[in-house]
Amino acid sequence: VSDLELVVRDLALLCTMDETQGDGVLGVRRHAAVAFQGGRVAWIGDSDAAPDAPVVWSLPGAVALPGLVDCHTHAVWAGSRSDEFERRLAGEDYSAILEAGGGILSTVRATRAADDAALVALCAARLHRIAARGVTTVEIKSGYGLTPAHERRLLLAAKEAGEQVGIRVLTTFLGAHTVPAELRGDRAAYVRQVIEEQLPAVADAATFVDVYVDRGAFTVDEGAAILRAGRDAGLMPRIHAEQVTYTGAAAMAAGLGASSADHLERLDDDGVSALAAAGTVAVMLPGAMLYLRDPSPPVPALRDAGVPLAVASDLNPGTSPVHDLLTSATLASVMMRLTVEEALLGITANAGRALRRPDLGRVVPGGPGDLVAFRVAPGEAPTPAALIQHLGGASVAAVVSAGALR
Ligand SMILES: [Zn+2]
Repeated sequence: VSDLELVVRDLALLCTMDETQGDGVLGVRRHAAVAFQGGRVAWIGDSDAAPDAPVVWSLPGAVALPGLVDCHTHAVWAGSRSDEFERRLAGEDYSAILEAGGGILSTVRATRAADDAALVALCAARLHRIAARGVTTVEIKSGYGLTPAHERRLLLAAKEAGEQVGIRVLTTFLGAHTVPAELRGDRAAYVRQVIEEQLPAVADAATFVDVYVDRGAFTVDEGAAILRAGRDAGLMPRIHAEQVTYTGAAAMAAGLGASSADHLERLDDDGVSALAAAGTVAVMLPGAMLYLRDPSPPVPALRDAGVPLAVASDLNPGTSPVHDLLTSATLASVMMRLTVEEALLGITANAGRALRRPDLGRVVPGGPGDLVAFRVAPGEAPTPAALIQHLGGASVAAVVSAGALR
């Protein structure tokens, strides 16, 4: 291999997340090195056989993973919900806050009032924090604009922020996040607006279309109509489903070929079977489960049915103000009982699958040149379990994004 640009070497452990590249389901290699060229991985092997390059980074003792993939965030918004956080701690009910114009509606007001530069700056500041914790790909949803023009500018702001920070951003149109205040009494009119006016305005700025189906949000039929229209406009369906109440939305979305169904706290056996049959990824959002004190999704049933599990931060200003994906993986293990392997695959290869990007979240020759090396908590051996066990205990030693040290 010639013209290499960067070599990361002396890694105690490299989890390639590809069984063809190492041992076990995590594709583990010990005393490993990775070489990069042209933004991609050029070579993987034993560190003693590592080639030379203009930049060589030695990280003895480190545990390396593919650049992490956060496959579900709402990272573009303005305004603060810290007042609501305190009111809820004091015992106030979220639905009462929402009916009084607070909650998500307050975020929509503040987001609409923010100019483009402010939205980009806020999103970029969040992406800097996310990137510093080892994430190299992040999915960002719209959904705080709720008009054709505002939804479009949120998606463009997310893309612009990603370019400024140097992190891969994939965007999702979530006009059907909630019904805006001005149409609160006429949900059918808002669904028509989403399909007839918002979708044409945003189709070139998004990869996915998403709908929040639940009590107090949208119905299964409305969700199906929006996902179908989105698919016709060239977007890939995904869904927020079975979070607060069971509706059957996950099975509906699976039937439409959704790449993922997210939340799933109240998923039933039929829903599990539908996800398995369609190959739809189940995205676990432990941050929302923690902040809302919700029950766990049915992980044993999903596991037994062979449904791929991903884990995401669900970063948003209300129900999951979580900026750290590795912490989300720890929460998924502790609260949902994902194994260490499931938690790590959930923030790498399976998150890539949820985004229909099986090239992401793996370290393979020819694949994207994204890598994160962690130092595990003091006193621990460099193992996958040590990465997951300690909440906030692993520090980032290096991040390689598109073949360059960040
Ligand atoms: Zn969400």
